[in-house]
Amino acid sequence: MSKPVIVAIDDEPEFIRFLQDYFEPREYELHVALRGAEGIELVKEKKPDVLLTDLKMPGIDGDEVLKLVKSMTPSPKVIFITAYDDGGKTKARLTKMGAFACLDKPIGSLKSLEDMINKAAEK
Ligand SMILES: [Mg+2]
Repeated sequence: MSKPVIVAIDDEPEFIRFLQDYFEPREYELHVALRGAEGIELVKEKKPDVLLTDLKMPGIDGDEVLKLVKSMTPSPKVIFITAYDDGGKTKARLTKMGAFACLDKPIGSLKSLEDMINKAAEK
């Protein structure tokens, strides 16, 4: 099986670089965007298996990104990576809206994220 195609959206360039430094040498096709609108265009164009997205971003935020990709065919699995924490309320809501997973930032283990991406892509 070929490796999953990934799109990542985050308004922090350092976080995007952190993902690129891990996934690109491992030969994943990773497309990145610093804004939600730009990320949505990438999803339409690249049809990724998995979308990694931040929650809090200027312009189109993670909530809106999830709604938009859920209405697309094919629709990527969405994994949120966010430092936002309100005791799990938002995570529960996003999961109910169809998010595959919600992870805490900073990411403890990129290997765990990689495993999760592969699991998401299989489904
Ligand atoms: Mg952010």
